[in-house]
Amino acid sequence: MSEDCLFCRIAAGDVPAHKVYEDDDILAFLDLHPIRPGHTLVIPKAHHVWFEDLPEPLATAVTTCAQRLARRMKRLYGVERVAMFYTGIHVPHAHAHVVPMHHVHDVSSGAYLADGLEGYSLPPQLPAEEMAAIAGELRAGLGAA
Ligand SMILES: [Zn+2]
Repeated sequence: MSEDCLFCRIAAGDVPAHKVYEDDDILAFLDLHPIRPGHTLVIPKAHHVWFEDLPEPLATAVTTCAQRLARRMKRLYGVERVAMFYTGIHVPHAHAHVVPMHHVHDVSSGAYLADGLEGYSLPPQLPAEEMAAIAGELRAGLGAA
């Protein structure tokens, strides 16, 4: 636990939160600044800054909780899809956002907004040789990463 980490303090019960799920390893609670009602954060109780550094069982526990939340949100809010993502913005303690999507741009990127809110733009494609080079860079050493 990090004393100055807000999410560690929430996990320890020192700061109140609207809890949705809790077990020994993870905690899910409502985001204080929701994109949509029901927007939930799922965190490991242990302090890890980046999701890619979570031990695999812990990452799986977070994802499994997010899956259960997504199924519940679909029934509760009547939405077709629920987004789940990590960004690493705002609080340096890995947290997965789980957001019921009422609109295709509820969790969008500016890259998809070139045609405005009612469109869903396709960002330009890269040349095939550049794509091949990028894929090669990502593949190289992936097993060791
Ligand atoms: Zn923390």
